[in-house]
Amino acid sequence: MDAKVQQTIDILAEEFPEPKSELNFNSPFELLVAVILSAQCTDKRVNIVTPKLFAVADDAFSMSQLDLSVIEDIIHPCGFYHNKALFISNMSKDLVERFNGEVPSDIDSLRTLAGVGRKTANVVYAVGFGGQAIAVDTHVFRVANRLGLVHANNVYDTEKQLMNVLPHDKWSDCHHYLLLHGRYVCKARNPQCGKCPLTHLCEYYAKGEEN
Ligand code: SF4
Repeated sequence: MDAKVQQTIDILAEEFPEPKSELNFNSPFELLVAVILSAQCTDKRVNIVTPKLFAVADDAFSMSQLDLSVIEDIIHPCGFYHNKALFISNMSKDLVERFNGEVPSDIDSLRTLAGVGRKTANVVYAVGFGGQAIAVDTHVFRVANRLGLVHANNVYDTEKQLMNVLPHDKWSDCHHYLLLHGRYVCKARNPQCGKCPLTHLCEYYAKGEEN
């Protein structure tokens, strides 16, 4: 492994000794729903909404029976509630029809679920089933490119390049490292370079783009 990559992983591992999702869930199904809701929404807000939703339906069978309007009313605070309610409903029906209501544990099947994109499938595979996957969200995309771990214009290329440079057994940990670093330090509009332990490894900082 490249020395810069190794140093980056070591430093981020110290910064975030317990790399894990900040979403609350009690089952792979609840995780799947929470990840769908987390698009363009904070984990904190999702964690406020999901107990209300899961009190009404906490598995694919019960969720697939709910009227869309019921789901929409509950998830309204998460934003994009029309689309998200539709995704949750379609995904639940698909689980019932093709997987007897169980969330599949293999990544290829997860990626075929209605309403479930590649990023969501990767998160559920990694967080829900302990698999190795790099889910590239806006934080992972930004931090990986600023650091110069990758040089990519889109999330798919970022994922592919990260899979090439990061050791396979660290993919899921590194997803959390980059996400948490982006959420709390390397923020989109105002990166906190003064507090960042990665300045000596960062291409963005070296170019003086933080100023
Ligand atoms: S030095 Fe600045 S731009 Fe680079 S990773 Fe740290 S916070 Fe982000």
